[in-house]
Amino acid sequence: MLKQNHRAWVEVDLSAIKHNVRQLKSLLTAPTELMAIVKADAYGHGAIDVSQTAIEAGATWLGVATIPEGIQIRRAGITAPIVVLGATNGVDEIKAIAEYRLQPTICNPKQALIYHEVLSQTVEKVPVHLTIDTGMSRLGVNWQEAIDFVKLVQHLPNLEILSVYSHFATADDSDRTFMQLQIQRFEKVIADLRANGIYPPRIHICNTAAMLSDRQIHYDIVRTGLGIYGLYPAPHFKNIADLRPALTVKARITQVKEIKAGTSVSYGRSFIASQDMKIAIVAIGYADGIPRGLSNRIRVAINGQKVAQIGTITMDQCAIDVTHVPNVNVGDVVTFLGGDSENTADDWANLLGTISWEILCGFKNRLPRINLVKEICDRQESML
Ligand SMILES: *Cc1c(COP(=O)(O)O)cnc(C)c1O
Repeated sequence: MLKQNHRAWVEVDLSAIKHNVRQLKSLLTAPTELMAIVKADAYGHGAIDVSQTAIEAGATWLGVATIPEGIQIRRAGITAPIVVLGATNGVDEIKAIAEYRLQPTICNPKQALIYHEVLSQTVEKVPVHLTIDTGMSRLGVNWQEAIDFVKLVQHLPNLEILSVYSHFATADDSDRTFMQLQIQRFEKVIADLRANGIYPPRIHICNTAAMLSDRQIHYDIVRTGLGIYGLYPAPHFKNIADLRPALTVKARITQVKEIKAGTSVSYGRSFIASQDMKIAIVAIGYADGIPRGLSNRIRVAINGQKVAQIGTITMDQCAIDVTHVPNVNVGDVVTFLGGDSENTADDWANLLGTISWEILCGFKNRLPRINLVKEICDRQESML
């Protein structure tokens, strides 16, 4: 089968994605909807399959960061609304938004007027989402200027406001002080809008951490990324929902060799054998998403055993210690993340001083995605 040909790959358990979306949805009260955030190729899991699966499990919106990410999903035939969370200002970008029926985030009056100018040459009406900065200091007008901004966009005939939203800076923090301040600012904006007779059709502010931490602020939509991939934004969320990681990273052994005590392994000689050893070279490296900073720091699984990765991880390859593993052969499969390695994206993030989001996004297109559910079906079919 396909797998036999791959040097390294990512296995995605779509049934875990489905489970996670259902778990998260079960925390919502109707009519709150779930937007599956599938930016960065669905956090390394494969945007098209994840989008399809999330929709099957009850997600009704998709969120991406860029226009090409949105186009990729549209071209796959997915018809759900796709919100572009990143900024889009160029004329060609705006035309692509209209052509592919993507829904942009409008961040400020100037951008709104550019949209107005480009779209007024057409008859298109583009659905848009307005973002208000309540403390993240990223995209969006400052919350004090929100009313004028929303009023302005309301009067632009080619823009149809579908929602007004904001984004938290500290929702994963157990200290909720700043999050509360952002909620207050957001609620003040919404109240002031209503006092001005403006009722946005939808409002939303929750990412995964916020939706897990406070049911009072789910509003009309929650925008969940990390949770649908089965990770918790922080350990203190673990008892709120039962989430399962969906991603396993595997690679094949390409050579097995004996080395003598005193021999160094890989660039920079960061590993020196203290005794005679048997090592295996594995066809995966940092260009595939195994961070170089993990060199000499992780254990991986081979033939049911855990062994140490040794020497500096190079761009395409790395070495492991198989001294005590019998019958190691070229073509054998080594699990680096998930599965029988029992390594989690959180483990690696902790080792590196980063966050699980960055570990997951590191697995880019160079690694083929193998959809586990489909693999099992294929296997069953080939057995019939
Ligand atoms: C990425 C992103 C999210 C999803 O965040 P998670 O923490 O992964 O749930 C939600 N909203 C916006 C605006 C984002 O950029």
